[in-house]
Amino acid sequence: MRRGWRRTLLVALLAVSRAVAGAAAAPFTVEEVAPGIWVHRGAVADFAPDNRGDIANLAFVVGTRGVLVVDAGGSAAVGRDWVAAVRGVTDRPIRWLVLTHVHPDHVFGAGTVVAAGARVIVGHARLARAFAERGPVYAASMERLLGPEVFAGSEVPAPTRTVAPGERLRLDLGDRTVEIRGWPVAHTDTDLTVLDQATGTLLAGDLVFLDRLPVVDGSLLGWLRVLDELARLPATRVVPGHGPAVAPWPAALAAERRYLRDLHDAVRGLVREGVSLAEAPARIPPPSGWRLVDPDHGRNVTAAYAELEWEE
Ligand SMILES: [Zn+2]
Repeated sequence: MRRGWRRTLLVALLAVSRAVAGAAAAPFTVEEVAPGIWVHRGAVADFAPDNRGDIANLAFVVGTRGVLVVDAGGSAAVGRDWVAAVRGVTDRPIRWLVLTHVHPDHVFGAGTVVAAGARVIVGHARLARAFAERGPVYAASMERLLGPEVFAGSEVPAPTRTVAPGERLRLDLGDRTVEIRGWPVAHTDTDLTVLDQATGTLLAGDLVFLDRLPVVDGSLLGWLRVLDELARLPATRVVPGHGPAVAPWPAALAAERRYLRDLHDAVRGLVREGVSLAEAPARIPPPSGWRLVDPDHGRNVTAAYAELEWEE
């Protein structure tokens, strides 16, 4: 009896906490940005219980052979909504999952997408090692920031197919082909892009930020070089990793390129002037026109300084 009562209470408590979480979370929506390409827009926000880690843009491409999913959201809870959103659009099998890079807001729903059928997991050649190094720290901080109930069950299976820097992998989705490309160190050391050739749509992951200030977690110089190559891709629209669901290409690159170039020039100036690493962030004013500038701008200055002091 007593045991049964306890179980009932537990179920009731779970129901209440789910109701609270459900009330706080925004409805999980997708929009079709080009024929057969659907995007879920993540919140432009930092990790918090009310967004459950749903702060990155996610996409899927529907072909006659099946569905290719690009990124998986920041928790198993987001991954479940993401799979449900795919199922709301098409009953074709989920066959492929592409993880655009190692950051937690893009990968922790991966286990849920794999459980829904994705047998091919595509990642950068360095992804498994990067995740082995960072995964435990990411998981601990996500559990703290999002809450254990939201984060429970979040996992990131290793890629079954890797793509090296400079390599291009073509996947045949039936009536359309996508080209997945591995990049040298830029936003991170694990960046991939997906180009849907049928519609000229570039799924850029975090190589392209709009609205939210770009975060330099790889190489500023490398990212600037990659942008020059990216701009030449035969696309007419881009789905950025953060910001609106879709934007015109290559015009969408302009603001990010300007910020990264200005950052480069300003930090190089300070290094030449002999300003110390500790003093540098306060010497470069935050840029206008971006959201979530603090504290990422200061971190970017520090990262750029550590990279550029060896250039001089
Ligand atoms: Zn990222």
